[in-house]
Amino acid sequence: MDRVFLTFDDGPDPEWTPQVLDALAHAGVKATFFVIGQQAQRTPDLMRRIHSAGHAVGNHTFSHRHPWFMSSRTARAQVRDGAKAISDVVGAEPKFYRPPHGRERACMTDEAHRCGEQVVLWNVSAIDWGPLGAADGIEKRLDAVKGGDIVLMHDGQNKHNRPDQLLKILPLFLRKLSDRGLRASLLPS
Ligand SMILES: [Zn+2]
Repeated sequence: MDRVFLTFDDGPDPEWTPQVLDALAHAGVKATFFVIGQQAQRTPDLMRRIHSAGHAVGNHTFSHRHPWFMSSRTARAQVRDGAKAISDVVGAEPKFYRPPHGRERACMTDEAHRCGEQVVLWNVSAIDWGPLGAADGIEKRLDAVKGGDIVLMHDGQNKHNRPDQLLKILPLFLRKLSDRGLRASLLPS
């Protein structure tokens, strides 16, 4: 069975993350959550729920500042503090790092590697944000997912994300994946 890799960014969010977890549990599949460190600190129970359900938790920096608009010292601290917020709560170091807005910056990549994290971007975006982030459009984009894809979605409300729209079609998307012989799995480390 071909594998696909589902990733959810910008959480945890007390309203939306539990609904994503329920949908994943119902489908019996695993995903990776790229969490924001300060959100992780605010939602320790939710963090432990993600971890204990067998999903992976990745580092999405401490407060999701744009990688290009801060000093290199602050940028490195964003990566380090994001990792620490995760390990403080779940007791395990994140293995993956995803830069905010997908913008790679050399000093942040270097810091992630020092923390033992591998950089993970994506090759399919649900575009579950902004003016295109309506359920029918999200569904169409997700219908194109094929084996080996890394899929970007959002469970956190951070700025203009639309987890409300994503959740309208997430259970259906998960059923379609399984019907098409695709299995949502943890990223290989
Ligand atoms: Zn993000």
